[in-house]
Amino acid sequence: MDIRRAQLWQAMGLGPIYRLRSTTTHTPAEAEAALPVADRAASIARLEWNELGQEVARCRACSLCETRKQTVFGVGNANAEWMLIGEAPGAEEDARGEPFVGQAGRLLDNMLASIGMSRDGQTPKSVYIANVLKCRPPGNRNPQPDEVSRCEPFLLRQIELVHPALIVVMGRFAAQSLLGTDASIASLRGRPHRINVAGRQIPVVVTYHPAYLLRNLIDKEKSWADLCLARKVHASD
Ligand code: URA
Repeated sequence: MDIRRAQLWQAMGLGPIYRLRSTTTHTPAEAEAALPVADRAASIARLEWNELGQEVARCRACSLCETRKQTVFGVGNANAEWMLIGEAPGAEEDARGEPFVGQAGRLLDNMLASIGMSRDGQTPKSVYIANVLKCRPPGNRNPQPDEVSRCEPFLLRQIELVHPALIVVMGRFAAQSLLGTDASIASLRGRPHRINVAGRQIPVVVTYHPAYLLRNLIDKEKSWADLCLARKVHASD
């Protein structure tokens, strides 16, 4: 973290936000990685939308910052009733800076349209879409636990700011990360779960990842059932 930024954080009442563990000179990434996890999460939990976006854009808390083209923050209605959460940006998302803009994203948009929803950010029927990770893992490999734990405070703050009535998690990885479980997607689908974010219980419905559906068309029917469950949970909550 450079001095100007440290001063800014201090002026915002957020400092001191990290303690170096030694007197060795640190790169910004090392300094950010040295921040105690709880301190960093508490600082992020106080950010408003603009600052949160800026923090994500300049984040160097894990090695994905070395290989990303850009961070992928989120898109849609910042006050959405429904929030959709995926795994991590792929190549097209990394290039364009928006989640789900590749082939899987087009399928997702079609699925949303089939229930009268969109990501346009303009209407009450617009959802908010974000990923567990804000940077693309090279070669689309699975996210590593340290990357998830470093990125998690950003997603939690997004959830808190959107204040959704319902979350739909797409795919095994996002479901397991958000629900803190190793359970299979088959066992997580078909019933509502709940997560606690900033003291608020939010219903969560698990469904397949759109990229999986592109390879397994037969399961599209099940994802339709998941969306119907999501509507039912939303209506009854
Ligand atoms: N897959 C995801 O999980 N997220 C994206 O943004 C794109 C593909």
